[in-house]
Amino acid sequence: MSLAALEQAVARDLELSAHPRAAWLVPRTCGGAPVLDCLIVGAGQCGLAVGFALKRDRVDNILLIDRAPEGREGPWVTYARMHTLRSWKDQTGPDLRVPSLTYQAWHEAQWGVEDFAAMRWIPKEKWQDYLLWFRRVTALPVRNEVAAGAIGPAVTDDGLPCLSIETSAGRMFARKIVLATGQEGVGHWWMPEFLTALGPSLAAHGSSEAIDFAALRGRVVAVLGAGATAFDNAATALEAGAAEVHLFCRRAEPMVIQPYRQVTYAGFIRHLGEMPDEWRWRFMSYVLGLREGFPPDTYARVTKFANFTMHTGRPWTGARAVDGRAVVATPRGDFAADFLIAGTGVRMDPAAVPMLAACADNVARWCDRYTPPAEEANERLGGFPYLAEDYSFVEKRAGETPWVRDIHLFGIGASMSFGLSGSSINAMAIAAPRVAAGVTRGLFESDLPRFYRELREYDVPQVILDPGRIAAE
Ligand SMILES: Cc1cc2nc3c(=O)[nH]c(=O)nc-3n(C[C@H](O)[C@H](O)[C@H](O)COP(=O)(O)OP(=O)(O)OC[C@H]3O[C@@H](n4cnc5c(N)ncnc54)[C@H](O)[C@@H]3O)c2cc1C
Repeated sequence: MSLAALEQAVARDLELSAHPRAAWLVPRTCGGAPVLDCLIVGAGQCGLAVGFALKRDRVDNILLIDRAPEGREGPWVTYARMHTLRSWKDQTGPDLRVPSLTYQAWHEAQWGVEDFAAMRWIPKEKWQDYLLWFRRVTALPVRNEVAAGAIGPAVTDDGLPCLSIETSAGRMFARKIVLATGQEGVGHWWMPEFLTALGPSLAAHGSSEAIDFAALRGRVVAVLGAGATAFDNAATALEAGAAEVHLFCRRAEPMVIQPYRQVTYAGFIRHLGEMPDEWRWRFMSYVLGLREGFPPDTYARVTKFANFTMHTGRPWTGARAVDGRAVVATPRGDFAADFLIAGTGVRMDPAAVPMLAACADNVARWCDRYTPPAEEANERLGGFPYLAEDYSFVEKRAGETPWVRDIHLFGIGASMSFGLSGSSINAMAIAAPRVAAGVTRGLFESDLPRFYRELREYDVPQVILDPGRIAAE
């Protein structure tokens, strides 16, 4: 099948499964300006998946915005330093289980069934191309190079609650906003303060910062962390010709299992978010506390270099600059390197997100809602937002910012509340429709009087009664 034929199949699949087809939302204005039914901030894979799910439910008055140029959304061709995805190649994702929209269908249409069968992992550039194709054939309305700013409350001209949002393209209004802003969506990339203090010539975060790897040729590089990102940065430095690369981790035995694999089953993905807090915390603090194991190909990428060394059970406790080099302090003595890279991930911190400036202080986090038993305590995870069942923010102090219930989160920040829901391809086909259902529920609920009035006014006859067939009394 060619790509053109596949696109025809997509159109047919969408047409065959379009029920219910009836439009049900009406345009609104705020001060005369148009109000979107939903604004999705972020046109990476999560934003696209939610946008598609909304369109399937006839929520057509939507817009996706992304501050990145078209084709540069998300990590895949920007800061991701792996060669391939870490997900299995046959997982469903934004396609929401429509077969013709899957990655596999797209790949086979261009490179053949044998090529897909022979491929081990999906090259990240192909995944990015697939996302662009997906967005085109599902006709999602995306505006690139538009950055979102502060969100605040507003009211439509006919009295419904809505939100206003500052953007680089001017102020917009929407009844619902979905934040699909990726890894740092409700926080920021984090590395120890002592590394930040060294400055960009000696230290960088391995995910958020551009690193001139060519300049590391012939140099000694030290990497902190033993997750996939740390290994990818180590590999990139080795491939660029670094003289030595040393990877340091706190654990005596680095994590070599991938707990996400074990919980990739429908019961967990679909229902964890409905379980009591103690069980949600227990599962997710175990999964996120273990940290993500690195894939075998990532490990093979570094071990083929003789100049790669791991230092296990050796965290960094400090760092200082000495004669133009970086010296890190460890429990087993100092270590000197020419450049340091932190593979230390993200920290949840709503206050760090400009979009949430007017409500961050009142966004409930897990530490505000649940106290785990001492053996399960984890301060880092307590900072995750505590989301409502429709993926919206919950107020810490009820009544101060009630409008946060119209802001829904679909990203890694949803993990403590819903498990593998956001930021994980393997959960997307189940999770994205749930987020969309949270949005449609709110759109329906806040407009109930209109829906009821329209029902009462409905007067379309199915047949014209024949007066001659009605008995005269
Ligand atoms: C290096 C790396 C590798 C990964 N590999 C895998 C993998 O193999 N399998 C897997 O399941 N998961 C993987 N993940 C996890 C996850 O799938 C990805 O992070 C994925 O990109 C998440 O999708 P997203 O749509 O939530 O965020 P993103 O893809 O990051 O998209 C978010 C978008 O929001 C935009 N944005 C942010 N803020 C604003 C703003 N204020 N205004 C406008 N736009 C904004 C950004 O420009 C970005 O394009 C990986 C993550 C990383 C970091």
